Amino acid sequence: MTATPDKYLQAAGTSANPGTQARPEWARSKRIVVKIGSALLTDRTTGQLKSEWLSSLMDDVSALACAGKDVVLVSSGAIALGRHRLALPKGPLQLEQSQAAAAVGQISLAHAYQELAKARGLIAAQILLTLGDTEERRRYLNARHTIEMLLALKAIPVVNENDTVATSEIRYGDNDRLSARVASMVSADTLVLLSDIDGLYTAPPASNPDARHIPLVTEITPEIEAMAGEAGTELSKGGMKTKVEAGKIALAAGTNMVITTGKVMNPLRAIAEGAAVTWFLAKSDPVTAKKRWIAGQLEPAGQIVIDAGAEKALLSGKSLLPAGVVRIDGDFERGDAVLIRGSDGRELGRGLIAYGHVDARLIMGKRSGAIAAILGHEGRDTLIHRDDMALNRK
Ligand code: GLU
Repeated sequence: MTATPDKYLQAAGTSANPGTQARPEWARSKRIVVKIGSALLTDRTTGQLKSEWLSSLMDDVSALACAGKDVVLVSSGAIALGRHRLALPKGPLQLEQSQAAAAVGQISLAHAYQELAKARGLIAAQILLTLGDTEERRRYLNARHTIEMLLALKAIPVVNENDTVATSEIRYGDNDRLSARVASMVSADTLVLLSDIDGLYTAPPASNPDARHIPLVTEITPEIEAMAGEAGTELSKGGMKTKVEAGKIALAAGTNMVITTGKVMNPLRAIAEGAAVTWFLAKSDPVTAKKRWIAGQLEPAGQIVIDAGAEKALLSGKSLLPAGVVRIDGDFERGDAVLIRGSDGRELGRGLIAYGHVDARLIMGKRSGAIAAILGHEGRDTLIHRDDMALNRK
């Protein structure tokens, strides 16, 4: 193995030392996504839910919610619970068996979250996503809006992959990457991956006594990827490898990521109390990262010409309403990137549009209150939300 540069290593003697200070990024996190793995949630031998542990986690979630934080849970465990109920054999399952197991287990899982949330005065909401829901822009927007609405209503979204319909070619298979996509989708400040280990090590600590804990990663270099190796157990689909891949997704979206152990009671409180963790720190915040992505990466599928009033509103940080639009060019779908131009043709910026070109043309120049009557169904008030917009100048 290649030598590990010192910059990655925790100072001698402080590794895994509870009682140290949590990084300030934790207290500053307003929106937190927490990924809970199957191995933490279910007892390997009995296949039962570890209720006491989950209860302690929900105490932490409740404390965060009371402190005004938005919490989204991404929970595995459906297949692990269901396979036991169906008395499926040990060892790898066929795809159809996993789908059947997930169908059975997901009910128990959702029920457990519902009950534990209710006991704490919280409301749990189940969201089952497929790969397509997070990759296709249109469906991505739908999923994002639903999660945003639930958070606005103070519910706790509990997300899992929709394993009953996901087939092998079109599924995540592991909730590490799914949770990173969810975190980027909702512009979370922090993604917590609760693992069976307290972070990333220079080598697998179980087999290598010289392995050292890495407290901080600021860039996912090939060396970091090499440290992650390939591990993964029968219950947890992801090993450290999928966690580092999740880190890439999170960091690109401006979301910080924490890997820490979930093998303690109150694992989220433990982070605040300075438990050993690996922080992956993003170079920018989620809003800046998203705006950069909108500004730089996408081929605009059309253009929207707006009047002087709308231009002024945009420059003062407002969203684009249909009323301010004077012309629309191009055939685009909901969620596509479009150019925004002033009435003199100057490019003002780019944004992700909330309507396809047919509907957008129908509602342009109209008040937002008239949208429902024009389209025959409720629609969003804004044509391009300010968070989905990157202006050339501020
Ligand atoms: N979605 C799977 C389940 O709920 C788990 C995937 C994973 O282990 O990451 O059983």
